[in-house]
Amino acid sequence: MFRKILIANRGEIALRVICAAKELGIKTVAVYSEADRHSLHVRFADEAVCIGPAKSARSYLDIPSVISAAEITNVDAIHPGYGFLSENADFGEVCETSGIKFIGPKPDVVRAMGFKQHARTAMKKAGIPILPGSVGILKSPEEAIELASEIGYPVILKASAGGGGRGMRIVHASEELAGHLASAQSEAGAAFSCPDVYLEKYIGRPRHIEFQILADQHGNVEVLGERECSIQRRHQKLIEESPSLQVSPELRERIGNTLKKAMAEVGYTNAGTVEFLMDETGSLYFIEVNARVQVEHPVTEFVTGVDIVKSQILIAMGEPLSTVLSGPVEMRGHAIECRINAEHPTTFAPSPGRVTGLNLPGGIGVRVDTAAYTDCVIPPYYDSLVGKLIVHGKDRPEAIARMRRALDTFVIEGIHTSIPLHQRIMADPDFQAGDFDTGYIARFLAK
Ligand code: ADP
Repeated sequence: MFRKILIANRGEIALRVICAAKELGIKTVAVYSEADRHSLHVRFADEAVCIGPAKSARSYLDIPSVISAAEITNVDAIHPGYGFLSENADFGEVCETSGIKFIGPKPDVVRAMGFKQHARTAMKKAGIPILPGSVGILKSPEEAIELASEIGYPVILKASAGGGGRGMRIVHASEELAGHLASAQSEAGAAFSCPDVYLEKYIGRPRHIEFQILADQHGNVEVLGERECSIQRRHQKLIEESPSLQVSPELRERIGNTLKKAMAEVGYTNAGTVEFLMDETGSLYFIEVNARVQVEHPVTEFVTGVDIVKSQILIAMGEPLSTVLSGPVEMRGHAIECRINAEHPTTFAPSPGRVTGLNLPGGIGVRVDTAAYTDCVIPPYYDSLVGKLIVHGKDRPEAIARMRRALDTFVIEGIHTSIPLHQRIMADPDFQAGDFDTGYIARFLAK
């Protein structure tokens, strides 16, 4: 049993972990940068330690500072949230050698899944369909050109260590390939300290569909259905929902059973997400594993009733899934999440600053995950996410109606936010009909 855990994160996800820990009777330690001194996670944790200046490289990403805070406060475990150190296998190893439990998969599994190329190979071996593409890392432009002509254009170059849509290039013809390969490699090298790039078939108008996994330390794996995350801008998700209109009960069961086997084979533990692209024929192809809790986990919590963050903590304590989950997982109704970012709704320019007025929506089927309060300052140093509005309804039309009325009473003054964009999308007949793919936002904005 953990007595105390440290949360190596900030913002809404740090508060989310505090909620889960409080309900389990576990004490919490917040860490914060100088820019986050007045943040809610600092106020609501039982203890708080300043770990450095505003820049995340010197605070939230600084492993020695986080570990020192954990040692000073004598915690049993660290929850990394998402982003920052959550998928850093070295951090997991340092936790282990310091005698602190890392709430996530084992470091070697995090490392293997973090290199997408390894994950692709492992999933293929376990029977999960992957897109045609390179078997290993691309070694030369000649090799890439030969492979691309076998697969057929367009193809996509992707950084093996990639994330956040960086290091990706779509290539339409062989004469573009060498140039794009060089720029993808240098972008990947700069962003992820690893220039490795691989190639796969590019799917036109795909849907992004992902499956939520929970796996205990005793070899049991459960799949908590899927999320539809096709509403993206520049490969960044904006709206997520569960279930996906495109996933039939048969497909859900078939993919779910294969995933249970695959995740057990790779020794996966704790929470994770397996991401797929769906082509126009309805076939699913694996793209990557996210070895952590996702921003969009609340839609799954609404439809399954499972507290994913609490489950992560219980699994890390060694509890079997049979006690973590109370019976078989069933999906009920429909949930939608809108990410509320501090950015201009049409230019997408970042909009940090002071929140001078705030009204949060509420009522039946509405959940707001945010660390914002009246007079708080959204700092310019971190992710632009200021909150998440999640709704649950008996079906998709009710969820959309609920989202629309909730957005109408969500007031954030002093900064620009994506709320007006979400209002427009919710009113769009194509969105309402479920007629979209990952190119939806680009087309919607061009209308
Ligand atoms: P990252 O880890 O950088 O977010 P992903 O592999 O998860 O990268 O891909 C992010 C998004 O990029 C996907 O949701 C999809 O919109 C697009 N994408 C990735 N691979 C392909 C592909 N083979 N064909 C078409 N779009 C793709």
